[in-house]
Amino acid sequence: MISPRIEVDLAAIEHNTHSLVTRLEKRGISVTGVTKATLGSPEVARAMVRGGVKRIGDSRLENLEDLKQAGLKVPLVLLRSPTPVQADGAVTFASASLVSDIDVVEALSAAAGRQALNHGIVLMLELGDLREGVMVAEVLDMARRISRTRHLTLLGIGTNLACRSGVVPGDSQMKELSAQATLLAGRLNLPLPYITGGNSANLAWALGRDDVGRVNDLRLGEAILLGVDPLTRSPIDGLRTDAFTLVGSVIESLSKPTGSWGATGGGAFGSSAGRRDRGTIIQTIVSLGRQDIDPDGITPPVGVTVLASSSDHLVLETPKLMPAGTEIRFGVNYSALLRAMTSPFVAERVVVGSAPGVPVAAGSAASAR
Ligand SMILES: *Cc1c(COP(=O)(O)O)cnc(C)c1O
Repeated sequence: MISPRIEVDLAAIEHNTHSLVTRLEKRGISVTGVTKATLGSPEVARAMVRGGVKRIGDSRLENLEDLKQAGLKVPLVLLRSPTPVQADGAVTFASASLVSDIDVVEALSAAAGRQALNHGIVLMLELGDLREGVMVAEVLDMARRISRTRHLTLLGIGTNLACRSGVVPGDSQMKELSAQATLLAGRLNLPLPYITGGNSANLAWALGRDDVGRVNDLRLGEAILLGVDPLTRSPIDGLRTDAFTLVGSVIESLSKPTGSWGATGGGAFGSSAGRRDRGTIIQTIVSLGRQDIDPDGITPPVGVTVLASSSDHLVLETPKLMPAGTEIRFGVNYSALLRAMTSPFVAERVVVGSAPGVPVAAGSAASAR
């Protein structure tokens, strides 16, 4: 079979989605399933829809175009603001966009007018992580301007934390978001049906209390795909951490000393591996490199260690010699998944059933178990 490849277990994705959707439903929160780490895979999106998400969100217009063309029936949401030039695409491929800039709002309204469509707007609030969002002092003015455009509907407000500065979503930010939703709904006399509190990093907050205020949506990618809480990297109760498996093939396996020799300079990625000699080992190379994966984000099988990696080579220590062509299976974390999915050199293969014996996501359950 072709390798390297990433295997996707859709049953695991559906299970994780269903589990989270059920738990959040009890608190009045619906789920927007986020597909960007899979480059907007329609199969993954459909598994999320089977699991109960209300909408699919993606940050890239190209991915939404693929999803729309695949005939997905749920509303599609553009999670990263379009540029003004992308406004027409946003209106064509998404039913709503998350935005925070008035020039983008105006471009979207013009584009929606040209296409004789109405486009939904979710106004993003800056609540401390310092990525996207308008400052709270500007929210009312901005919301009013959006509500006065001819071809846009202000659906609600949202925020995003934990992505740039690692600010942990908690009661203080979610109460502020709810308070702003109440204020806007009253002042502008709008229903504001969509109050989206954040991403997978909000789960601990959402599942840890009964009263979630007006927050009625979370946008979940990592938690569904990998079954882990991004704040702690530890597995979420009841979720599967083995939905994705990276498979690479051996291209060399030889007994070699552990200490390099010859004068050394800087390697392409900084010199790795000390010169400390700990005798002869079995060194095995897999044809995967930094162009395809984040070497710090993969979990090799038990007994196998990652020694180093360069653009195209992954250098492992293995317990025994492995014939060229032998496949080795790795678990992936979010960073490794993103890069593997994005590399044109890694094939995607959808596995519907479960694939037992797959290592768990890197840096997480391995230590928790
Ligand atoms: C990527 C993204 C999400 C989903 O993040 P996860 O951590 O994968 O759950 C949610 N909202 C926005 C704006 C995003 O860019």
